[in-house]
Amino acid sequence: QTQDSLKMENSAVTVAVRVRPFNAREKAEKALQVIYMNGQETAVQHPGNKQRYNFMYDFSFCSVDDCDPTFVSQQTVYKTLAKPLLLRAFEGFNTCLFAYGQTGSGKSYTMMGFGEEEGVIPRFCQELFSRLASMENEEVKCHVEMSLLEVYNEKIHDLLVTREQTNQRRMPLRVREHPVNGPYVADLSANIVSSYNDVQGWLVLGNKQRATAATGMNDKSSRSHSVLTLVMTQTQTEFVEGEEHDHSITSRINLVDLAGSERCNSAKTKQSMTQKTVFIPYRESVLTWLLKESIGGNSKTAMIATISPAGSNVEETLSTLRYAQQAR
Ligand code: ADP
Repeated sequence: QTQDSLKMENSAVTVAVRVRPFNAREKAEKALQVIYMNGQETAVQHPGNKQRYNFMYDFSFCSVDDCDPTFVSQQTVYKTLAKPLLLRAFEGFNTCLFAYGQTGSGKSYTMMGFGEEEGVIPRFCQELFSRLASMENEEVKCHVEMSLLEVYNEKIHDLLVTREQTNQRRMPLRVREHPVNGPYVADLSANIVSSYNDVQGWLVLGNKQRATAATGMNDKSSRSHSVLTLVMTQTQTEFVEGEEHDHSITSRINLVDLAGSERCNSAKTKQSMTQKTVFIPYRESVLTWLLKESIGGNSKTAMIATISPAGSNVEETLSTLRYAQQAR
């Protein structure tokens, strides 16, 4: 196992696939439906070579047709995939949720959503804080810190620090390795958040920063990874023979929106020898290195691979599905 490849040693990883509905353009073009889901199975009917490809995952989430009785809502995706991670985080595990897939396949919709169609991140944060609120009278004190970074062209930027604050051109941050805690981003800001409102405020700033930096580059967000990290510390005070003792457990929660998967295909074919052991297929990425402590070990990971239902995307879809199958 090389430094920058991450192996799935055990099944601490849950893998789901979600197909999006046809968009207006595809409907107008009477695009060919090539994805079929049944229970845990996802099948692809290739319009070119006429072959059928079958894949099994922990979950296959269908949203092909609004009238489909098996349609899987944002709420269901949250409950099935993300809520178990939240429960693990409260038990002291590090957790990580990834979205992976071609640009336009539904990563942002799944992770952030919009309007009432809230995605996994808002639902996760809302429940986290409502649980914390209900624990208030107990002996456990909790605090949560939030960071948000993006990795673009192998450079890391803090999305919660404005240019005005740094009073200069944005300088990339460095990844360092702590002898005990593993890799970390030096000088990354960590902001105490005590409600979902706080988180939302930072997300608005973060999105603006991402957009600002994208000047002249429309597809920047499809080419950058973003990592939202919540570090939750639960401290319990015990009295032993009149003396106060604090015990604390810290859980790191990473919510990751990966760059469009079409960006890493060339790298994948070049490294087909080691592909089987690569979890994050962006093999050269500092992101891989940064997240290595979050995957395996004392960590619970879920991945959601998002795909398009249309025949025109079938090759990209197959590549996403194959990758997702290896991750399991
Ligand atoms: P990505 O982040 O992968 O580039 P988006 O999340 O922006 O893709 O999705 C592309 C479009 O498809 C958006 O308009 C989004 O609202 C829509 N979409 C994606 N997934 C779903 C879904 N499961 N249900 C309904 N609409 C979806």
